[in-house]
Amino acid sequence: MSTPGRSGLVFSEPLLFERSRPGRRGPAVDPPDVPAADPRELLGELAREDIEGFPELSELDVVRHFTRLSQWNYSIDTGFFPLGSCTMKYNPKLNESVAALDGLANLHPLAADEDIQGLLALAHELESALAEVAGLDLVSLQPAAGAQGEFVGMAMIGAYHRQRGEPGRDRVLIPDTAHGTNPASAALNGMQVVEVPSGEDGLLHPGALEPHLDERVAALMLTNPNTLGLFESEVQALAERVHAAGGLVYLDGANMNALMGVARPGDMGVDVMHFNLHKTFSTPHGGGGPGSGPVAVRANLEPFLPSPVVRRDGDRFVLDGDRPLSIGRVHAFMGNAGIWLRALAYIRSNGAQGLREVTERAVLNANYLRACLADTYEAVGDPRVMHEVVLTDRRQQAHGVTTSDIAKRLMDHGYHPPTIYFPLVVNGALMIEPTETESLESIDGFIEAMLSIAQEASTDPEAVKSAPHRPIVRRLDEVRAARKPKLRWIPE
Ligand SMILES: *Cc1c(COP(=O)(O)O)cnc(C)c1O
Repeated sequence: MSTPGRSGLVFSEPLLFERSRPGRRGPAVDPPDVPAADPRELLGELAREDIEGFPELSELDVVRHFTRLSQWNYSIDTGFFPLGSCTMKYNPKLNESVAALDGLANLHPLAADEDIQGLLALAHELESALAEVAGLDLVSLQPAAGAQGEFVGMAMIGAYHRQRGEPGRDRVLIPDTAHGTNPASAALNGMQVVEVPSGEDGLLHPGALEPHLDERVAALMLTNPNTLGLFESEVQALAERVHAAGGLVYLDGANMNALMGVARPGDMGVDVMHFNLHKTFSTPHGGGGPGSGPVAVRANLEPFLPSPVVRRDGDRFVLDGDRPLSIGRVHAFMGNAGIWLRALAYIRSNGAQGLREVTERAVLNANYLRACLADTYEAVGDPRVMHEVVLTDRRQQAHGVTTSDIAKRLMDHGYHPPTIYFPLVVNGALMIEPTETESLESIDGFIEAMLSIAQEASTDPEAVKSAPHRPIVRRLDEVRAARKPKLRWIPE
C-alpha cells in the first residue's frame, strides 16, 4: 500500500496520523485508587477537553511508526558517512557512558565549587591535555562551537591590542581558502576582513600578506589544514611576518585530526586557536546536537580568557571569576560539559600514542581514497592531502552530470553523500573525509560506488541525473523546504 504524503512524497506506509482509528487506544490501566486531579483546576481556561485531530492508536501502531522513522535515518552506526570537514567518524560508546555517569550528568549547575571538585579536576585535566596538543599554554572550555571559539579568539585578540594601547589594529587577514565562519567571526567583533589570495598550489604564501602588514593588522586567521584539505606548510614564515608587524596569529583548528600528535600549532607560531571537540574528539559534528569549541592561547593572552577559569589551588580547584581584563563569560556554567567529558574520555582511552595514530590513519585513508579516485574524478591541489580530499565534477559535467547528481546517486549505493559545493573556491566540489575509523573494506566499497557512478555518467547519464531511486524520499524541493517549511502535519 502506498500513501502520498502532504508534500507529494510517496511513503510505503501510512503516517502516524493516518493510522488513527476512532476508539483505538493503548493498554488500559486500572482506575487510580487515589483521588484523580482535575487538570481544569490547575490550568483554568487553558485546559482543553479535546485535542482536535489527536491520533487514536494502539501501542503497536506507535512503536512501529517510530521504529520505522528511526530506520529511515542514516547514521554513522549504520554506514559510512564521508561528510568532508565534519569528521563523521565512529565514536566509542564508552565515551557516552562516561559522560552519562550519575556523578557527572546529574550535578546541579549551581553547585558550589567544594561540591564539584571531581568535575573541576576533569576540566583542568582536559584543559592541560588540549594545551599540550596545541603546543600552547592555557585553554578555556566555555565556547559551545567552533564558530564561537573563533568569535572568542578574535575578541581576545581585540582586547589584547586595546590593552596595549593599539585600538587601531582592526584588520584581520583571511585567506580565500579559510572556512566561511572565519570572516563572520572577525566581522562580528567589529573587525575588518581582508581576503588574501592563496597561490596556484592552494596554499598561502608570505608574499600575499606583504601589502597588508601595517599598523592596522590585528591578526592573520588561518585554517590549517585549509578547506582544500591541504597542509599550510609556511605557517612559521607567515607567523614571523605577522608578529613583526605587531599582529597575532589565529588558527582555525577545527580539523585537528589531521595534525594532533604529529605537529603542534603553538610550535609554528600560532598564538590562539580553537578545537572542535565535536569533530576530532568524540562527538559527531553533523549530528546537529550540542558541541564544544575550546580555545587555547599563549600565556600573554591569559588575562583575556573567558571568565571564570578553572584554577588549581593546592590540591583543590576553584572557579576564578576575579579577572578584570577577561572578555567575560561566553557560556552559562561550565560550557557543554557533556561534550567535553566525552572528549576527555576519548583522549584518556587513546593516550598520546593513540592520538597520533588517529591522525596517521585519517591522513592515510584520505590519501588512499584520493589515489584510487584521481584517475576518474579530477582532484584538487597537491597529491598529498591531509585528512580529506576535494574532487570536482569537471570530467562528469561533459555528460551533463553534476556534483549534486553524483551525491544523490551515492544514496542508491547506500552511502551518505559527501559535503558538496564546498569549498567555494572550487567549482563543483565534492569534499570527502573518510576518517580514521573506517576499514580498508568500507573505503574500498565507497571507491567502487564512486567509480561505478563515473562509469554510469558516461553510459547512462539519465540514471545518475534522476537519482536517488532507492531512499524513502527522492529529490526534494530544497528551496521550498527552506523557505516554506512544514513544521506540523495537517490533515488533507
Ligand atoms: C566545522 C568547522 C568550523 C565551524 O565549527 P562549528 O562547530 O560548526 O561552529 C570552523 N572551521 C572549520 C575549518 C570547520 O571545519
